[in-house]
Amino acid sequence: MLLIANGRVLDPASKTEAPRDVLVDGERIEEIGAPGTFAGLRDTELLDARGMIVAPGFIDLHAHLREPGQESSETIESGTRSAARGGFTAVCCMPNTQPVHDNASITRFIVDKARSVGATRVWPIGAASVGSQGEAIAEIAAMKEAGIVAVSDDGRPIATARLTRQVMDYCRSLDLPVIEHAEDVSLASGAVMREGVTSTRLGLRGMPAAAESVCVSRDVQLAELTGARLHIAHLSAKASLDQVRWARDRGLRVSCEVTPHHFTLVDEDVTYDSRFKMNPPLASREDRAALIAGIADGAVDVIATDHAPHEPALKDVEFDRAPFGVLGFETALALALEQLVHSNRISLMRMVELFTTGPARVLGIERKLAPGEPADLTVFSTAQEWKYDPGDSPSKSRNSPFAGKTFRGAPMATVVAGRVAYRR
Ligand SMILES: [Zn+2]
Repeated sequence: MLLIANGRVLDPASKTEAPRDVLVDGERIEEIGAPGTFAGLRDTELLDARGMIVAPGFIDLHAHLREPGQESSETIESGTRSAARGGFTAVCCMPNTQPVHDNASITRFIVDKARSVGATRVWPIGAASVGSQGEAIAEIAAMKEAGIVAVSDDGRPIATARLTRQVMDYCRSLDLPVIEHAEDVSLASGAVMREGVTSTRLGLRGMPAAAESVCVSRDVQLAELTGARLHIAHLSAKASLDQVRWARDRGLRVSCEVTPHHFTLVDEDVTYDSRFKMNPPLASREDRAALIAGIADGAVDVIATDHAPHEPALKDVEFDRAPFGVLGFETALALALEQLVHSNRISLMRMVELFTTGPARVLGIERKLAPGEPADLTVFSTAQEWKYDPGDSPSKSRNSPFAGKTFRGAPMATVVAGRVAYRR
């Protein structure tokens, strides 16, 4: 048995925020009681959470684990170890691997690999179309049978409105969410950052915010037509969020996520350093303010990392040639604390919701701290000071714009299915 004692339990599902001890037996929570309730129990491993928050296990709805096919950038093992270090107990991995995860044999490969070497749970997302090529619908039912939790052609949007409608119709009958990387590729073509004064100054090709919001508009209308569950990935523009708000007001099942880099950085932060290159690109100040407002008022459902490792040989090249993407797992909580909580924009409870019940709701599952529930817990400090060095990471990649940054607040222990997967 494992006893997590002396911590402050924070559970959005029951709106609990109180000193509690949590007793874990095997893979499940046995009991939750007032401090000291379980003192004197024998054969119990103690995890002293004094001064720390004990929350339900964080879920990352958007990550790239690069396996199969790009194991020099990340593997299921290295990626989940990095995720556990970031406080995540479950990671949803996007299907843009090599080959693309568009069939059930790859689903089974990922599920089996994660069971044998994963530090966290891995919940795979299957491709919406064959090879994510946007022509023919993928074998979604067979992948669902094998364990996918959603579909997406992430890395790109589902190519056409016609195919998106077909995927949505199909996913509605299977009760699977459709996760959209919203991008009008004709508007974004050739762009490496957000269009604006900074892109002009740097002489880099920019894409307008509309490259995202035009696609969100298409998808919201198709969600209304089909009744499907639509989730907008890494939403970065105010105009996109306005569409999501409009959809919600009409009662549509539309949700969205924002990444820590989009609520922290803006296009003005971009230099010729490829660690600042991601897709969607860093947005304007106005957009960032709108994202934070949406996080605070509930329009944004989820904080997701879009952890996108690229080995140094690929990423450390000129800005124009570098692939899009940055690491995300190990800085997500610290950035959320810094940008949102310490600055009094949201409560700690709301932040935990964005990492737990928020993503769970998108997936149609529950996330709470209660007896009988899976013992997935994230223990963190809001005060621990530390400096981020990607060189310390179990990830195989180093591409973070936050390297060298000092933070206040950190994951202290990650418990997955009753097992301590990470301890600071
Ligand atoms: Zn994407």
